[in-house]
Parts: sequence; structure tokens; C-alpha cells
Amino acid sequence: MAQQTFVTHLECSATGERYEPDRLHNLSRAGKPLLVRYDLDAVKLAMSKDALDARAPELWRYRELLPMRRDDSIVALGEAMTPLVRLKREAGEVLVKDEGRLPTGSFKARGIALAVSMAKELGVRHVAMPTNGNAGAALAAYASRAGMRATVFCPDDTPEVNVREIAAQGARVYRVNGLIDDCGKLVARGRETTGWFDMSTLKEPYRIEGKKTMGLELAEQLGWEVPDVIFYPTGGGTGLIGMWKAFAELEAIGFIGAKRPRMVAVQASGCAPMVRAFEEGETHARRWENAHTIASGIRVPAAVGDFLILAAVRESGGYAIAVDDDAIAASLQEVATREGFLMCPEGAATHAAYRQSLRDGRIRRSDRVVLFNCATGLKYPLPPSENRLDLNAAIDFAQL
Ligand SMILES: *Cc1c(COP(=O)(O)O)cnc(C)c1O
Repeated sequence: MAQQTFVTHLECSATGERYEPDRLHNLSRAGKPLLVRYDLDAVKLAMSKDALDARAPELWRYRELLPMRRDDSIVALGEAMTPLVRLKREAGEVLVKDEGRLPTGSFKARGIALAVSMAKELGVRHVAMPTNGNAGAALAAYASRAGMRATVFCPDDTPEVNVREIAAQGARVYRVNGLIDDCGKLVARGRETTGWFDMSTLKEPYRIEGKKTMGLELAEQLGWEVPDVIFYPTGGGTGLIGMWKAFAELEAIGFIGAKRPRMVAVQASGCAPMVRAFEEGETHARRWENAHTIASGIRVPAAVGDFLILAAVRESGGYAIAVDDDAIAASLQEVATREGFLMCPEGAATHAAYRQSLRDGRIRRSDRVVLFNCATGLKYPLPPSENRLDLNAAIDFAQL
């Protein structure tokens, strides 16, 4: 099924300046992210809800709203639609979108699958990126799948499992004595010498298109309705920006109405540049110094898409909220022991933010809420468990 793309052009997210598709792009001339634009009138004629029903339950089902010109550009590892798991112990309707089921165990697979597919289509042979762990793992996997070289830089306190999974999936990975933005500078510095393509968050146009599928999928799973509130663990903000774009596109093709969820950007109190900017009424966020949190996926002191995150949050009537590491750890433990759902710390942060928001009266119990569990909890260090039994001694079963 050779299919034509519905992409018309790329557009600077700050100035609206137009850029040609079918060419490699990083940031716009203004130094801002590029957004992919489609002929949505044509998509509206080409895509129907009934036709979707017949397609495989994977992110490629939204083909008309994805940028590849050729189907054979697609680099796939089985990107299944992720389930919405209802938390039964919450009084309100709280659904967790469990992104831990995706290839490489995190929702980074969505963005990277699209970015690598487009890189392949446009002839890239070598890709590079900075990572806190999960993006690098996804890049390693998809680049290997596509037969590309991948070079990855991560802060030296990146969890061991992430560094190893990146290496195990065929990328060159280096620990760097700095934070993620320092790693990003290495990617930029090495570009001229190596010719690698920079896959950093929002510095190429297609990761947003991959993350956008979370919004498409969510609306479809809820019967082409949006929830009342979305709690999104916000680092670079690709997912929040992507979902906001998804809802606009879905409305333009007549799949949903004008209602939008309130978008809540969740950060850790040890790294909360969006929360500070939101509260100070700023359109851009200052870099957060001495960033620290157990939720390493949202330890992002400065984001290129800061103004897009803040704009989406404000337009939606949402807000930005910080939760501390103790609340994250408590939510992680509570949801694991009471619901049987092992979240990642970033996912647990959305649960902690939900609880805090209920207490503060920022949301209502009657709201239909979606939390994001962005990675499998199994990728993170787990608390020790030390119980042992000696088969040569008497066992008091009543005490077990
Ligand atoms: C990357 C990442 C995030 C942040 O996602 P963005 O869309 O970049 O804000 C949150 N949690 C985990 C586990 C991640 O890997």
C-alpha cells in the first residue's frame, strides 16, 4: 500500500515561517521547534472512523496523520495501542495510560519510531542524542532496526539499566559528567566532525508526530471523546505538545468536538522550571539550577519547547504542578501494593499530582482523569526484599 503523505509543509512554532517537507531539518531559523502541517481537509475525506476500526491496533493506524511519504520507510517493533487501566481504589474515574507496554519499555518508542522512520526516508546513516535513559534506549533499538549508527550521551548518574540497554541494543553510549543539556551540547559540537543527525527532543520535527499518537489513541479509546483532565509528567514536553496538536487535528477532521482536556504539566519539585514559569506568568521558562529528582525522565532543567508547553497548559485551562520525591515514592508504593500496578517514578508523579490537586480543589472528584505511566516500573531500581527460608530448619507457616 504505497500511500501519499498528506504533509503540506513544516512550520516554525514561533514565527510560522514555512519549510519544505522531504528535507532534513532541525530547529527553525529562529531556533525553535518545527511543526508538521497536513492538508487536513484532504485527511478528512480520506480517513473515517469506520475504516480505522479495521486497522491493526498499533500507532501506524493513524497513517493519514503521520508524515512518512512511503510505507516502506516505517521502522516498527510492534507499537501496540496501550491500555487504559482504571485505578479501582480511587473515588473518581482515574485511568492510567500504560505506556510501559511499548517497545523498549517506555513511550519514547512512539517519538523515536517516527523520527527514525523519517530519518531513514531522508537518507540519514548516523543519529545522535542526549538522554536521561529511555530516549537513548529507544533510539538504540530503532536505529539498529533501521541499520543506522547511533551515538548517545547521558548524565553519569543515569540508571545503570538504561546505559546497559542502550549498549545492548547496538548504540555507542557515553556517560558524561554533566546534565542532559550539557549532553545536548556535545551532540551539537560533534555534528560537523561526524555528520550525525541530531535527534534531541524537539530539535527534529518528527518525535512530536510520534508522541501525538497518544492523543489520537486516547480519544479513540474513549469513544472519540477527550477526558476532563490529563496529568502529564513533563520533561521536554514532547508528549504534552504532541497531544495538544493531536486534539486540534482531530477536531479539524471532524473526529472530536471543541472540548479539550485541561492539560496539567507535572514536574518534580527538585526540577520544576515549567511550574515556576507558569506561576510567574512567564511565556518562557528559566533554566532550573541544581536539578534533582528520583524521576529521572522529568529531570530536564531547560526545554526548547517551553513556550509551547506553557501555551498549551494555559489555553486548556490547565496548570503546572510540582510534587516532591517523597510524594512520588509514596504514590509508587501505594499504587503498586493496592492496585497491583508498578508505575515508574514519573508515572507515580502524576498520581501524586492528582491527589494533591484533589486536596487543593483544583480538580473535582467527578472529573474523568487520565494519568500517564510513561515507562515500565521494571526499568527502575526496586526496594530490596530479603526474606529467606531454610529448607533444613522447621518452617512456621503460620508466620509467613
Ligand atoms: C522522557 C520521559 C518523560 C518526559 O516526557 P516528555 O514528553 O519529554 O516531557 C517522562 N517520563 C519518562 C519515563 C520519560 O522517559
